[in-house]
Amino acid sequence: MTNPYITIDLDKIEHNTNTLVNLCREQGIQVAGVTKGTCGHPAVARAMLRGGVTALADSRLENIQRLRAAGIKAPFILLRLPSLSSVEEVVESVEISLNSELSVLAALSAAALNSQRVHQVILMVDLGDLREGICLPELFAFVAEAVKFPGIHIKGVGANLACLSGVVPTAQNMAQLVAMAQGLRKAFGLSLEWISGINSSGLELIAAKRMPAGVNHARIGEAILLGRETIQRRSWPDTFQDAFVLHAEVLELKRKPSRPLGELGQDAFGGHPTFAETGEMVRALLNVGREDLDPDGIQFLEPGFRVVGASSGYLVVDVTQTALTQTTLTQTSRPIQVGDELAFTLNYSALLTAMTSPYVKKCPFGSDHASEEE
Ligand SMILES: *Cc1c(COP(=O)(O)O)cnc(C)c1O
Repeated sequence: MTNPYITIDLDKIEHNTNTLVNLCREQGIQVAGVTKGTCGHPAVARAMLRGGVTALADSRLENIQRLRAAGIKAPFILLRLPSLSSVEEVVESVEISLNSELSVLAALSAAALNSQRVHQVILMVDLGDLREGICLPELFAFVAEAVKFPGIHIKGVGANLACLSGVVPTAQNMAQLVAMAQGLRKAFGLSLEWISGINSSGLELIAAKRMPAGVNHARIGEAILLGRETIQRRSWPDTFQDAFVLHAEVLELKRKPSRPLGELGQDAFGGHPTFAETGEMVRALLNVGREDLDPDGIQFLEPGFRVVGASSGYLVVDVTQTALTQTTLTQTSRPIQVGDELAFTLNYSALLTAMTSPYVKKCPFGSDHASEEE
């Protein structure tokens, strides 16, 4: 195959979803499955729905439109704040969006009225991660204006932590969110069905039974896709970490020095890489590069391989250990040849880039019959 490919084990995704949905359900929390790490892949979304999520969420309108075009029926949530210039399309494509600007709410309201709809919004509150959200001291004045827009329904409040700055969800900041919601319910007579407190970083809090009552909604992506919580990136019990596996082919295999020869300037991306002198090594060039994935986020399934570097179209791997299988301690299972495939699992960054690359073929398999060629 000229290009690398990524296999997607849909049964593992369904299993991971089910594990997390059950954990959340025990504490009255419903889960929206976040598909943005897969560019809104329809087969992945269907696996999440089989696993028990009650809604699908993505940061890109195109991804949500892709899911809809594939015939998937579920409530959709737009995670990234709508742009002022896209309100008609947002109202057209999703039922629910996350919001933090009055001017955008006014425009969403007008667009919704125009097409005889009511658009539902989650008002995002900034609890300290300093990405999106209304700051606490401004929240009541904000809502006092927001309730005047006839085309929108304020379905809830939400917060997003551990994304930009790594602020951890705690019993304290979650209680703050719940108290805020209670205050708003009282002051404005709102029902606020959802208090959408967390993403994958909040699972520890739930498992420890320290999530304050009242938080009843979670938006979970990485933990479903890669089986990890996102504070320490620990594997989550009873989930798979290898639902996605990238396969790349060896194009060249040669013994070369470990250090470059000649005078050194910048590499292809303006960096100045350094290389330790470790003697001659056996180097494999794979048919995957920075145009396909973040090379810092991969882990080989077999032991003994090490990434030397990557350019736009190549990943250079030290397979010396492999070539010396009989004599080294970190043995690998087989000698490598040109034409062989190496396989690796991906972190979130590598997954996101690989799923976004048009050069990486997506190969879902498992209990899903509609997933060919999506
Ligand atoms: C990406 C995103 C999520 C999902 O985060 P994970 O860490 O993948 O669970 C949830 N909420 C918002 C607003 C997001 O942008």
